[in-house]
Amino acid sequence: MQTRVYEQLRDRRLRPTAARAAVLQAMHEADGGYRNAEQVYLALYDSGMRFSMASIYRVLQELSLAGLLLRHWSKTDQAGKSSFVLAPAVLPPDVYLAICPVCQRQMPIKDSTFADNLHRVAQGAGFDAGLHGLALSVTCNDCVTPQSA
Ligand SMILES: [Zn+2]
Repeated sequence: MQTRVYEQLRDRRLRPTAARAAVLQAMHEADGGYRNAEQVYLALYDSGMRFSMASIYRVLQELSLAGLLLRHWSKTDQAGKSSFVLAPAVLPPDVYLAICPVCQRQMPIKDSTFADNLHRVAQGAGFDAGLHGLALSVTCNDCVTPQSA
């Protein structure tokens, strides 16, 4: 497991620092696939590893930019907070996923028109350079609660 983490960092030309290896490892061990910065911090703390929250945030950002993690926004998260999910290494780059925030089921979006439009919009807004992938928070049909509650 540890070896895979170091290989993944080197493959993405990231120096395998202790913090990067620990955070990536914590993401691999995440129950259900994704965690936010606080959950990564607590998981590492429980393992006896002490990193500041600032370090955790910075490393999550670095791993996202390197394409190892995808950012995931959920409306159930508190404002301004995002979770991270491992980028599925088996899928090609520019992967877009819809993730159900309730059951965490993932649906890959394999639609070239969607990808083209996303890149065009991102380019127009100056967001294309860092665009590696995207995880959309979409409640699946099984988890949509009936209106009459
Ligand atoms: Zn669901």
